Amino acid sequence: MSSLLLNERKDQVMIKTENSGSISCEKTSLAGSVSQRACVFCGSRVVLYPVADALHIVHGPIGCASFTWDIRGSLSSGPELHRLSFSTDLQEKDVIYGGEKKLESALEKLIAEHKPKAAFVFATCITGIIGDDIGAVCKKVSDKVGIQVIPVHSEGFKGTKKDGYKAACDALAKIVGTGDTSNVPKLSINILGEFNLAGEAWLIQNYYERMGIEVVSIMTGDGRVEKIAKSHGASLNVVQCSGSLTYLAKHMEKEYGIPHMRVSYFGIEDMSKALYDVADFFSDYPEVREKAEKVVSEEISKIMPEITKYRQALSGKRAAVYVGGAFKAFSLIKALRLIGMSVVVAGSQTGNKSDYEQLKMLCDPGCVILDDSNPLELSNFVIEKGADLFIGGVKERPIAYKIGIGFCDHNHERKIGLAGYEGMINFFKEVYSSVMSPVWKFVPRKFGTLREVI
Ligand code: SF4
Repeated sequence: MSSLLLNERKDQVMIKTENSGSISCEKTSLAGSVSQRACVFCGSRVVLYPVADALHIVHGPIGCASFTWDIRGSLSSGPELHRLSFSTDLQEKDVIYGGEKKLESALEKLIAEHKPKAAFVFATCITGIIGDDIGAVCKKVSDKVGIQVIPVHSEGFKGTKKDGYKAACDALAKIVGTGDTSNVPKLSINILGEFNLAGEAWLIQNYYERMGIEVVSIMTGDGRVEKIAKSHGASLNVVQCSGSLTYLAKHMEKEYGIPHMRVSYFGIEDMSKALYDVADFFSDYPEVREKAEKVVSEEISKIMPEITKYRQALSGKRAAVYVGGAFKAFSLIKALRLIGMSVVVAGSQTGNKSDYEQLKMLCDPGCVILDDSNPLELSNFVIEKGADLFIGGVKERPIAYKIGIGFCDHNHERKIGLAGYEGMINFFKEVYSSVMSPVWKFVPRKFGTLREVI
């Protein structure tokens, strides 16, 4: 195990062996460890951001809003109000005298100007510390303007990014159940935890529609307030990125009796399973399963020849994977195996005990598994394990480039669709061009240990 590992973090890192025990997780980040995790507010912002006809206003200093401005590559088929980042830009005077009046006036002005279908008001560290009652302001403005103005209790300091997901789900739950469900058919689902990065939600929706299933609402990709409002009429919630929307799925199960299932749309195996699992849920309609089989076989036959080509070029290469939710890591490991690549470092920001148990089962012996890691640990293990590629988000990109290896963006900022069958080919193309790029001939790649190379 790395000598650069802080003592207090040793139980959050393990190497897969026959006898490796369990990893410690689901705790707040160690102070001073420079965790790769984002704050509670950021967790809420990434979940709610794609609701395109809502006003999103950040009640806090301007830095919180600029940090999360246009934070996802989420596309909209209509309005694009979500792409504007509004903030109350709190100053010292507001910190002393309170920012409630400023928030009220900003909300009234913005709602009059942009005519949103609803408004989300995000709390930040500062508003939590000064104690502004954003709930009271939201209610007052809502009564006055006649749309839902919803407080998002996402004070940055109050927990981990996961608490932000929960605050976002609480906000969505206030919209769910307010719409008319009379025209929602029995063969219907909601897609939860899909954010329409580069149009991915449209691809997935198309597969389900070809199976004869209506998608009532996607939360939150290409999101619309009206569709979220009637989502309680669907027969099933299909949850991807389970960390972020499971709270809402469980709430809808309890309140409206809608069951939920966990899926992944990444990788041929998981994508096909997602379609078959939904078809099997509607087992009273055997034609749905037949249509699912048709979709799967048509889509796979289109991409198989290309996969064979990438497998020949990339077989034997090694990857490091560090992502937000562990569920994505499972799919990545399986997808990379399909082209002959192995994962030598795997970790997540928000995985839970059962996620890490599953990750351990999936990984090859010797793989380093990490929870809530930091740049020093990641750099060290990536060098030690001789990875050829780092797959992660915006904060992992510089780590890869400093080591002199390829990087593949698999986070919410990306502009290339990686979900579904088409997305699989886009992903392999990305992996291929990153790993095989001639640029690595001119950048000295670091080998050995971090101590030896710095
Ligand atoms: S909410 Fe707090 S931690 Fe998050 S961006 Fe704002 S100041 Fe930073």
